[in-house]
Amino acid sequence: MIPYGKHYLDEVDIEAVVSVLRSGSLTQGVKVAEFEKSISEYTGSKYAVAVSSGTAALHLACIVANIGKGDTVLTTANTFVASANCILYVGAKPVFVDIDPKTLNLDIDELQKKCNASTMKAIIPVHFSGLPCDMRRIKKIADSNNLQIIEDASHALGAKYKDGSKVGNCRYSDMTVFSFHPVKGITSGEGGVITTNNNEHHQRLLQLRSHGICKGNFDIPGIGFLDNNLVKPHSAMDDGELKMWYYEMQELGYNYRITDIQSALAISQMKKIDNFLDRRRELVASYDKAFQSIDFISLTQLSWREQSSNHLYVVNIDFGKIGISRHHLMKKLADKGIGTQVHYIPVPMQPYYEQLGFSCEDYPITKNYLRFLFLCILNFQMMSNKM
Ligand SMILES: *Cc1c(COP(=O)(O)O)cnc(C)c1O
Repeated sequence: MIPYGKHYLDEVDIEAVVSVLRSGSLTQGVKVAEFEKSISEYTGSKYAVAVSSGTAALHLACIVANIGKGDTVLTTANTFVASANCILYVGAKPVFVDIDPKTLNLDIDELQKKCNASTMKAIIPVHFSGLPCDMRRIKKIADSNNLQIIEDASHALGAKYKDGSKVGNCRYSDMTVFSFHPVKGITSGEGGVITTNNNEHHQRLLQLRSHGICKGNFDIPGIGFLDNNLVKPHSAMDDGELKMWYYEMQELGYNYRITDIQSALAISQMKKIDNFLDRRRELVASYDKAFQSIDFISLTQLSWREQSSNHLYVVNIDFGKIGISRHHLMKKLADKGIGTQVHYIPVPMQPYYEQLGFSCEDYPITKNYLRFLFLCILNFQMMSNKM
């Protein structure tokens, strides 16, 4: 069976993981920071904070952006549920934006129209299938409405904006989030990262991923310890030094840490990212060629494709014309050993979101897209003969 998406691992990756297992430091060792450095160098961001998943990364980004109860946040109707769930986690409300039928990313004119409430706090654009949104336009809208931007770049490691710079450099956003689930660009098993150029965000993300605990941030008053029967104002200090045993919890954080085992795998995978991207580009070119003359298939995301990380290959199939349902076509393909998937069932259509009052009727393009499109996704087992 050719799966709709699959990670590529080689002996070098396996050796990298084994060497961490032998090192004695499974978590909170040196590999996490090394992985973060490789991400910030690759994307061109000042900082990177690695966490346990892309979803955890989105959650922490929403907290750091100070999004909370009573706030609303804009995101696309066609995405994985995590892009919207993170808004609910912090007590805010998502406002879904319909998609542009050409790019399958959120429709920027619709986005502009929906920036109409004082509760609006942020935009979470998703670079769907690795095709970057027009961030220059989105930033303009955000700036004139005083909104923050958190890019969900879970599909877009290695993709480039129209200006040619890499997604994740945070030139157009406050923070950018990537996922390292095995179907994504590179994998750490499970994992995610937040990139940012803002040092305060960076510090706060580090603290939040580990329970909100810090070990000596003197900008914030620490605990008034009873020490030798005296409450001292700077009780974190002893003889001008941070006490060996001192730590304090300054806000409610989480255990969203990534392990050294996962980070070692991700560091090893990062060395192959450009090969992965090249191979995806090759496959896309051969798919384009194979499908272009078939009259019941139309191709999507054709503009700026060379800037895309090509996470998915999306085709638009006219099921009416071939007189067979999507389910049956997918079954026939599966019988031939070809895995396909639908990305995505629109978030407002999910029962949980319907129960919150959302309805797919409000997003006609997304709804139409669900009816006609389906995805044939690149096979990465084929990658091995290339590397
Ligand atoms: C995969 C994905 C996520 C979540 O990432 P995890 O690492 O699986 O938690 C979020 N948003 C989008 C668009 C994704 O595809």
